[in-house]
Amino acid sequence: KKEARKESGPAPSKQPSQPAVFIHVDRLPEMQEARLRLPVLAEEQVIMEAVKENSFVVLCGETGSGKTTQVPQFLYEAGYASGSGIIGVTEPRRVAAVSMSHRVAKEMNLSTSLVSYQIRYEGNVTADTKIKFMTDGVLLKEIQKDFLLQRYSVIIIDEAHERSVYTDILIGLLSRIVPLRNKKGLPMKLIVMSATLRVEDFTENRKLFPVPPPVIKVEARQFPVSVHFNKRTPLEDYSGEVFHKTCKIHRMLPPGGILVFLTGQAEVHSVCRRLRRAFPFRRGRTATDTAEEMRRFKKVKLKKTSLPRIDLDNYSALPVDEGDEDRQAGIDEEEGSDLELGDPPADDEEKADPSLPLYVLPLYSLLSPEQQAKVFRPPPPGTRLCVVATNVAETSLTIPGIKYVVDCGRVKKRFYDRVTGVSSFKVTWTSQASANQRAGRAGRTEPGHCYRLYSSAVFGDFSLFSEAEITRRPVEDLVLQMKDLNIDKVVNFPFPTPPSTEALVAAEQLLVSLGALEEPPRSGQVKEMERARLSCPISPLGRAMASFPVAPRYAKMLALGKQQDCLPYVIAVVAAMTVREIFEDLDRPAATEDESSTLAQRRARLTQMRRLWAGQGASLLLGDLMVLLGAVGACEFAGCTPKFCEENGLRYKAMLEIRRLRGQLTNAVNSVCPEVGVFVDSKMAPPTESQVVCLRQIVLAGLGDHLARRVQQEELLDPKWRNGYKTPLLDEPVYIHPSSALFKTLPPFVVYQEVLETTKMYMKGVSAVEPEWVPQILTRYCHFGSPLEVPSPWFCPSTGRIKCHCTSTFCESALLILEIGY
Ligand code: ADP
Ligand code: MG
Repeated sequence: KKEARKESGPAPSKQPSQPAVFIHVDRLPEMQEARLRLPVLAEEQVIMEAVKENSFVVLCGETGSGKTTQVPQFLYEAGYASGSGIIGVTEPRRVAAVSMSHRVAKEMNLSTSLVSYQIRYEGNVTADTKIKFMTDGVLLKEIQKDFLLQRYSVIIIDEAHERSVYTDILIGLLSRIVPLRNKKGLPMKLIVMSATLRVEDFTENRKLFPVPPPVIKVEARQFPVSVHFNKRTPLEDYSGEVFHKTCKIHRMLPPGGILVFLTGQAEVHSVCRRLRRAFPFRRGRTATDTAEEMRRFKKVKLKKTSLPRIDLDNYSALPVDEGDEDRQAGIDEEEGSDLELGDPPADDEEKADPSLPLYVLPLYSLLSPEQQAKVFRPPPPGTRLCVVATNVAETSLTIPGIKYVVDCGRVKKRFYDRVTGVSSFKVTWTSQASANQRAGRAGRTEPGHCYRLYSSAVFGDFSLFSEAEITRRPVEDLVLQMKDLNIDKVVNFPFPTPPSTEALVAAEQLLVSLGALEEPPRSGQVKEMERARLSCPISPLGRAMASFPVAPRYAKMLALGKQQDCLPYVIAVVAAMTVREIFEDLDRPAATEDESSTLAQRRARLTQMRRLWAGQGASLLLGDLMVLLGAVGACEFAGCTPKFCEENGLRYKAMLEIRRLRGQLTNAVNSVCPEVGVFVDSKMAPPTESQVVCLRQIVLAGLGDHLARRVQQEELLDPKWRNGYKTPLLDEPVYIHPSSALFKTLPPFVVYQEVLETTKMYMKGVSAVEPEWVPQILTRYCHFGSPLEVPSPWFCPSTGRIKCHCTSTFCESALLILEIGY
């Protein structure tokens, strides 16, 4: 039955058609059989004709209909990779890029040197690669090197409905690149693929596509899913509710996989642990065991009370290898780092029931590819599959055999306050579109059920759609990259959803302050100034900064790093700052009671170690960044072994990533200024005292807008300000985190890497600043006026500049800041 239809749009302009070649693919019979069942296969001809006739095509279809795995194969067979160009596919998530490249290679029976992937630090792309899966960030970097993307004959932007920032930018850029390529006689195609969610953002946006592209809808066979709402909505312990609901499904309902949606990695692990404890199973059962289990399974209701109790602690039958060590820092940040409060006491647990084995697997975006691949394999015989996932399972990955979905109704998002720069991870209600998408996961192979752990009234209050990421995060890195592409008037860029003007202004302001953009002409009118600020051209320093694959603040540090031979240190510090969570979490709760005393000892020892890395005297003032430097230095000196990392509370994966990033940044610096000739030294000596001073100043230059001043004794109007710091834009105090090297020192001025709001607002990555450096290094932030013009607050709210009084020398004026401004 033909279910897809081509939506009729205005007549598309004819494009030079691709050579009519057909490349034979020698698939294994079982693969061929599996793919024939996918709905998208029935539409191959419609899709390929649309691609042949048009430069832009939008393809939307239910998750699991075969878009990601099949469309690249269609294009390959039609000869789109047989000439000089290859097929590029972008994914917003690293897990998807890796896993889909493996899957497609396997389906096509081709080696991974032909069907390859590239994510931030790794990949298996070769000169022979024909289909390349990559993260959207990787393609954006490639556009900077070659604006016309001449290596590619087709680009597929996958998961466009996720509206990740890079995806949005890529679509905007490609809407301009493709016509340019066509004009040059190097035809190129853009295929935007999305779940069936709000495609109008792309197709109805005339700035993006003056002629609406054809939309092909693939109607996947979706079985009915009965949705069950809770009567009440648990506000606190929803993960407990999730656990109990999953147990109930497993005990009461017929076979079929369970997919559980939670919000973050720690929650996922906690529920996995509880489920494994409640339904343990051992590998290597005999067939009779399994048959016996199946029989019991059917009578489970009757037998429920007479089951033996087992030792609750004896549950780790599965290798416990999905631990936190699997974390990898990177582009996928949506799940955040969460401080989990540990599992609830054991008396709340279900009785352990070994007769009902449940094969429990976690799934989240930072999980290693090997771990993640497990969800695609059938569960061991006699067990039921239960995948406990974050919203990666919503659209990126389709897990086979799911019949039940348990939806907590929430999602964890990084919130960024544009005004204050404070970021925090918050769990919020998801959108109606996401909740429906989650429910749909239950009806892929047969009719299913979705249990929503909230009431229908609450659902009614959900927003219809999730908002595009670009509207929720700072955009300075994007603005710098766009300026480097000579897009000066960023406001005019065809964003599918434009960021607010406010965010664009803030980004340009920061970039001007960092010296990456030319200073706009001064003008009295705020409006005019804003307009001027939105079209500042890039400066030579900005070009250098844009070539470093890190955020502008860090890029500035790299650009300044060559002074006093500090570059190797700056590279190491920047690498460590951009990798998430290099240290083991010392606040982690003990898994068992036995562990709690050893954990306490370990905490004490590791804290000691970090103090040692921070050093004494002068080097201590570099603060947490010195700790990072010490950790990297010590770890590399020891050869960066898993053993060293384990013993010293470092995450091995993070350390490997730092090593890769150091190599990458070193190359980048050498290509920007070859005369410095830095190299990665594994036996890096600690910085000298004067180098530490230089490093602190470089850090100040990069993090200048993150300057905080300790509140003086006499200003303590409210006790909450004790040990608090004042920052330019926040009314509330921020504090140095207890884990910081400077927690006890409390320097009068500090810069911080970020403010993260948990129980309080804490500065992370703190380094001390000498007050007299401020007007010298942050001249652009300073407003040198007469004493009368300098009332508090210290920062001028309209310009964001530091107000201070200038007398004869900068140093004196700095002292005056303290006296007058504070
Ligand atoms: P879409 O992109 O439309 O969501 P996909 O192309 O990702 O669909 O998936 C098509 C089918 O291929 C799904 O049924 C999914 O279960 C299956 N699939 C995808 N990756 C794997 C894998 N690594 N192993 C087994 N099956 C897979
Ligand atoms: Mg897909």
